[in-house]
Amino acid sequence: CGIVGIVGRSQVAPLIVDALKRLEYRGYDSAGVATIENGALGRRRAEGKLINLERRLKEEPLDGTIGIGHTRWATHGVPNETNAHPHFSDGVAVVHNGIIENFAELRDELTLDGYAFSSQTDTEVVAHLVSREIAKGLKPVEAAHQALKRLSGAFALAIMFKGDEDLIVGARNGPPLAVGHGAGEMFLGSDAIALAPFTNSITYLEDGDWAVVRRNSVVIYDIDGNQVDRKRQQSLSTS
Ligand code: GLU
Repeated sequence: CGIVGIVGRSQVAPLIVDALKRLEYRGYDSAGVATIENGALGRRRAEGKLINLERRLKEEPLDGTIGIGHTRWATHGVPNETNAHPHFSDGVAVVHNGIIENFAELRDELTLDGYAFSSQTDTEVVAHLVSREIAKGLKPVEAAHQALKRLSGAFALAIMFKGDEDLIVGARNGPPLAVGHGAGEMFLGSDAIALAPFTNSITYLEDGDWAVVRRNSVVIYDIDGNQVDRKRQQSLSTS
């Protein structure tokens, strides 16, 4: 039930876990984090409390200066490690809060197209949709945009691409999602409290918005692909 993303300047896995702890109040049953290390996606996931994920990371650390993390409150599929986010499809990693209402229809379509599902979640359709657009030849940002257009329901999403270590796409339609502005690093989080250790300069996405987040820029679009202006504000929350 919480999302964190960092396009950062140092090792992000520990920072992501700390930010997820600040979202524990929202409730969750499992958690996970993914980074890109040496050009490949890596992830650690664990059922239960964040301490279990921390233990996994201690046994097997994750390197990387870009990453996404998630605390899950299961709606589709039992709370176990396989259903914990991030979900992968080829070089695409996705974390999601909310419910994709048309997931069954999308799953059937993607299955017919040869995509194999490894979880019981509604979320996994998003990863396959994006990677199918990339397989068709679209660049990551446009692939994400095309995939978003197919989704109905409530979602906050963070999407990361193996081929671009300076990019996280965030999207919001229902559950909250905020961009945190840093200097040479950028953040995504379910709320300003999660991002308080990093920055208090925050832009809240509105429903239908999606954001292209890079170390030195943030550009926000509406669902039609028109760039929109969203106010940047000083969050009052203290770290
Ligand atoms: N519907 C997704 C799932 O069951 C996301 C749940 C959440 O909001 O954490 O995995």
